[in-house]
Amino acid sequence: MSALLVTGGTVYPADATDRTLPGGAVLAVDATIVAVGTVAEVDAHLATLAPATRADLETVDARGMIVLPGLVNAHWHEMFSMRFPMRGALRPPSDREDRPVFMGAGGDIPEISRMFDSFDPMINAMTPDEGEAIATYSMWTQARGGVTTLGDMGSLNRPASMVAAARRLGIRFSASTWASDAICPPGAATFTRTRDADAVLSEVEALIKLVDADGSGLVRVRPNVAYVTNMTDELGRGMAELTSANGLGFATHVGALRHETEVLRTCYGTTGVRRLADLGLLNDRLTAAHCAFVDDEERGLLQAAGVHISHSPAKYGPSGESSLTETAVVPALRRAGVPVSLSTDGAGLPIAGMAEAMRAAWQMYNEMSADQTEVRPTDALAMATRIAAAGLRWEGVGSLEPGNAADLVLARADDWRYLLNPRPLESFLWLAGSADVDTVIVGGRTLLRGGRGVDLDEAELEARYLEALASFTKRVIKVPAPVVDRVLAAAGR
Ligand SMILES: [Zn+2]
Repeated sequence: MSALLVTGGTVYPADATDRTLPGGAVLAVDATIVAVGTVAEVDAHLATLAPATRADLETVDARGMIVLPGLVNAHWHEMFSMRFPMRGALRPPSDREDRPVFMGAGGDIPEISRMFDSFDPMINAMTPDEGEAIATYSMWTQARGGVTTLGDMGSLNRPASMVAAARRLGIRFSASTWASDAICPPGAATFTRTRDADAVLSEVEALIKLVDADGSGLVRVRPNVAYVTNMTDELGRGMAELTSANGLGFATHVGALRHETEVLRTCYGTTGVRRLADLGLLNDRLTAAHCAFVDDEERGLLQAAGVHISHSPAKYGPSGESSLTETAVVPALRRAGVPVSLSTDGAGLPIAGMAEAMRAAWQMYNEMSADQTEVRPTDALAMATRIAAAGLRWEGVGSLEPGNAADLVLARADDWRYLLNPRPLESFLWLAGSADVDTVIVGGRTLLRGGRGVDLDEAELEARYLEALASFTKRVIKVPAPVVDRVLAAAGR
């Protein structure tokens, strides 16, 4: 039996009461939380443990810190393999010539569906070693920002390599495949099938087998389809059967962009949420990502079906999306009782993390409603932890309460930013963020301490990433070798 005591910090359990515990503590035995409360309450519980367990106690002094549950990012994409082509390392230093890109101005849906459908050959051309080196680094940037449970919603990487990376890092990972079997070509009257739906489904089945054989308890599967534009009826029905038979969640991007509806009506004869309903995918196992451009009837369907919405408010502006403010649908659905969680989405470069998503929700929802109590800092925290875990259907994580896994995040809260503020989570959202995370614990195991990796060499991780990225970019993306080498040399790598 091993025991872990985190004591003396301001503890935010993110349980159903959304309480705050100044001078709080958390006690875990064998990776499971057994007590949460004031220091005195938890000390009393500690005294009841067997002497041998107490003798083995690891104590973390959390005075001057905030203590949060491990953050749950249930909508993420491993895209660090695309550091060069996708609005990444090849851009000019100046932003003055930037123009709205394909996600902007309501979205170039045919182009997005084409791009989403182009990933498969690149994934197949990636070697397992490249995939693992890239995924380990990419996932580490999530973990060091406080994400202890990460949900893939389709990546330009190999699922098996991502599973291996999660196990190596020791974070919880909900795996998926990249799934697309159709595009909506520009001006076309219908969709074009691009691959066999059964082949796409068999990749998911192979992933389920791989994860079933994993004994770590860290890895699960939640299948997804890249976008409602990229799914034939055969693939949608197959996903409905497969996820139902295996009791799995399902995720897709839907209602993401203003121009989505007209393209879907043209290519499939109906809109995104109605399509999901027709295909048997609209139920309480569905995570709908973004979900802003839906009509009144679709809102009713989402609500009646108990769908979970995951959205990424810190990411929309910089990608040209207007998913929060243009329709204000997601805050309205949340007000109506639909579970809404926060996520980061993904890009080739590190983008806003979960802390920044919390800040964006806190600031933007309240501004939209002219009400600073619409999303309190503790509401934003719940949307990034407990509610996100429920959407991912990962029980036993997302809040600090007895019986849950000992997944914790600590950040220092004792400098000028926090002076004389009795609400350190508020100051954290004002002036701190992902880079201020000090300690990350998953299942009682400390992965990050003092802002540094505990069991891994971050410089080596980065070097392995850049080596894999360079070989993949030259061989598969066909960026000329001298260009790749010049960019890496300019970065001093
Ligand atoms: Zn996404």
